[in-house]
Amino acid sequence: MADLIKLNTNEFPYGPSPRALDAMRAAADDTLRLYPDPTALALRTALAERVGLTAENVFVGNGSDEVLAHAFQAFFNHGDPLLFSDVTYSFYKVYCGLYDLPYRLVPLTENMAVQVEDFTAPCSGVVIANPNAPTGTAVGLDAIKRLLAMHPDRVVLVDEAYVDFGAESVVSLVKDHSNLLVVQTFSKSRALAGARVGFAYAQPELIEGLVRVKDSFNSYPLDRIAQAGATAAVQDEAWFRQGIEKVISSRTMLSAGLTGLGFEVLPSQANFVYARHADRDAAQLAASLRERAIIVRHLRGERTSSWLRITVGTDPQCNMLLSALRDILHRNS
Ligand code: PMP
Repeated sequence: MADLIKLNTNEFPYGPSPRALDAMRAAADDTLRLYPDPTALALRTALAERVGLTAENVFVGNGSDEVLAHAFQAFFNHGDPLLFSDVTYSFYKVYCGLYDLPYRLVPLTENMAVQVEDFTAPCSGVVIANPNAPTGTAVGLDAIKRLLAMHPDRVVLVDEAYVDFGAESVVSLVKDHSNLLVVQTFSKSRALAGARVGFAYAQPELIEGLVRVKDSFNSYPLDRIAQAGATAAVQDEAWFRQGIEKVISSRTMLSAGLTGLGFEVLPSQANFVYARHADRDAAQLAASLRERAIIVRHLRGERTSSWLRITVGTDPQCNMLLSALRDILHRNS
């Protein structure tokens, strides 16, 4: 459906870096008969250089979902439960199910924030999405430092899928913390969800743990086209910066617009906002928007059912969403 406004899966609203697209087109030639570089060295080197690390500190995989799945299998199988927030990214429970890992949910605070002091229980590890999903709020570097000190013998996985939209990355802590695994993705701020590229930063010992799991499935992490495109994307800093600025400016406009319509909007540091209306049913709002060809995400569940998660689109898309909501709220009043 061509005219659908898709604000439900937190994709980037603009196309990828033209340099990445050129590199992918150039990679689609006769060399596709050859296997890709099993070490993805050019990409890992580009990712490492960007943050002052070396290729030994970098793992790449088919989207951060695959990187997360490998990490769960490699590091969290100690018998104790894995700790993560209630609520957070829904796939963490899926990976626990897949690898038979017990987990324990740590409730968010009343205002839907992650509080690291609540992650005290004996555990096999900790997973924090920062910014969190679906709430969009983030904790700072000091909070993650405290968490690393609380569980020095356990891997603390910080899922930074949305970090580029205004939160502080903890990648600078990798050098001094052997228990930190930072996972990021090309799917959001790099506009390459369709290429499926995710990556992790950590000290070499943890990276080797991920490689061992990966090699037991498939020794090629990424195809030739994805490796070429992602490498060029990392090197196009100017495109990256200006795209993020546009999204942050649209987020400010969208949040203000929603507030003006009577929504409570959590302070987002991601490319989506989490909002609820004081006296309107969120599921019904989502259904009414769907009738107007606008898709947003509504999650069932005790803490989530009164909220809508709305991806920050282009300014025209955000304005269409706001005017559709204005119309829906007006009609039902
Ligand atoms: N982590 C979080 C918090 C996410 O929301 C998502 C997907 N939306 C992912 C990881 C996985 O993203 P991908 O596999 O596209 O990198």
